[in-house]
Amino acid sequence: MTRARKTKIVATLGPMSDTVERVRALHEAGADVFRLNASHGTHATLRRSYDVVRRVEAECGRPLGIVFDLQGPKIRIGAFATDSVELAAGSKFRLDLSDAPGDVHRVQLPHAKVMAALAPDQEVLLDDGRLRLRIDRRGPDFVETTVVTGGRLSNRKGVNLPGITLPLSPLTAKDHVDLQFGLDLGVDWIALSFVQRPDDIAEARRLIAGRAAVLAKIEKPSAIDRLDELIELADACMVARGDLGVELPPEDVPGLQKRIIAASRRAGKPVIVATQMLESMVHAPAPTRAEASDVATAVYDGADALMLSAESATGAYPVEAVAMMDRIIARTEKDPIHRQIMDAQRPELEATAADAISAAAAQAALTLSAAAIVTYTMSGSTALRAARERPHVPVLCLTARLETARRMALAWGTHCVYTDDVHTFSEMVDKACRIALEQGMAKRGDRIIVTAGVPFGTPGSTNILRIAWIGG
Ligand code: PEP
Repeated sequence: MTRARKTKIVATLGPMSDTVERVRALHEAGADVFRLNASHGTHATLRRSYDVVRRVEAECGRPLGIVFDLQGPKIRIGAFATDSVELAAGSKFRLDLSDAPGDVHRVQLPHAKVMAALAPDQEVLLDDGRLRLRIDRRGPDFVETTVVTGGRLSNRKGVNLPGITLPLSPLTAKDHVDLQFGLDLGVDWIALSFVQRPDDIAEARRLIAGRAAVLAKIEKPSAIDRLDELIELADACMVARGDLGVELPPEDVPGLQKRIIAASRRAGKPVIVATQMLESMVHAPAPTRAEASDVATAVYDGADALMLSAESATGAYPVEAVAMMDRIIARTEKDPIHRQIMDAQRPELEATAADAISAAAAQAALTLSAAAIVTYTMSGSTALRAARERPHVPVLCLTARLETARRMALAWGTHCVYTDDVHTFSEMVDKACRIALEQGMAKRGDRIIVTAGVPFGTPGSTNILRIAWIGG
């Protein structure tokens, strides 16, 4: 199956989407990558979702990417004696370390290190920013606050502390257990939540030890401060607009989305735009006009992939949401303005053979109206450099590594095929032509642009470009 679009779709799996029939339907509707969210579900349900995706992958013969999203240091308050309380604006409210059930005057904040980092005048956001507290003073194991924006607050709601770099590792005890579980399953990407600093990625990379690629979720102001370093260290990143739009004012998010996408394209790393893309389709069979426009904007911005969360995991219309996203992306990519933007935002080439060949391949494909660029790639890095060019034609990525084929499912414009290595020049050309035909990416009489590295099968050796004609 080839897609009529270049921007990829990531569908989060959950109770509404973890059967073979449903995952098959999501894939047929357009999902290229599936996200398992370790914040929800047990190891048993996550394993079932993993197995289901691999069964559909085997059935359809297309490599499917699986992102395993770790919960990270999500901070939560404790519980209330009455399950919830109403906090009035202007009233006083205390956060402390006591595990006694909370009331309208206080509740537990069960994180001693976080408590120690709090100071007067800082803001504490509760329940995705719906309630807002300002710290008046701190004691040894509590803070006194004034409620700025009141409302109903219930058990274990999330806490956001904008502007504070917390003394927390991005990997909690739960994350360590989940990480080993995900790696043992064989997931392709590990997504790190609430990354704050470059060391967070280095720490995760040490533990992952090359068994999966690393995806940094950008959702903290401190991550924005060190964006380029984080992108450099990670293999991909996500504009995690849910938490980003709580930690920062919502009006900052559109500009940051553009900045994160541009920085990722410069670095040649895939970038996902996530959260609330088609939110109303959790309950309705059609999106709002504003949501359709939001999806299109992310495509115009040049994102590699767009993600569905509740829409595909728990919503009433998971397949319809993927199909709708597929249609909006395909239509947007046909708009001549989209091409103008991709070309205008083309990043500078680096002085490497891979960039010289990738740029030449994109130009040759345009000049000759070729049907596709075919890259032989081991690690995926050549295919990513080709995708960075945002070429007019699809990039058929041939790899002898299954994990590369699966990881590349996230990258813009690539269509990966897992196949044996080639050993001779003529084999390289013949195979590229044959697979381009088989995959429906070219027809007889078309030209294709083939890039590879000699000696064959050596990672990082891309050094040849061949223009091939698909004969009769
Ligand atoms: C987000 O905050 O936008 C996000 C994608 O993270 P999660 O779904 O894990 O909250």
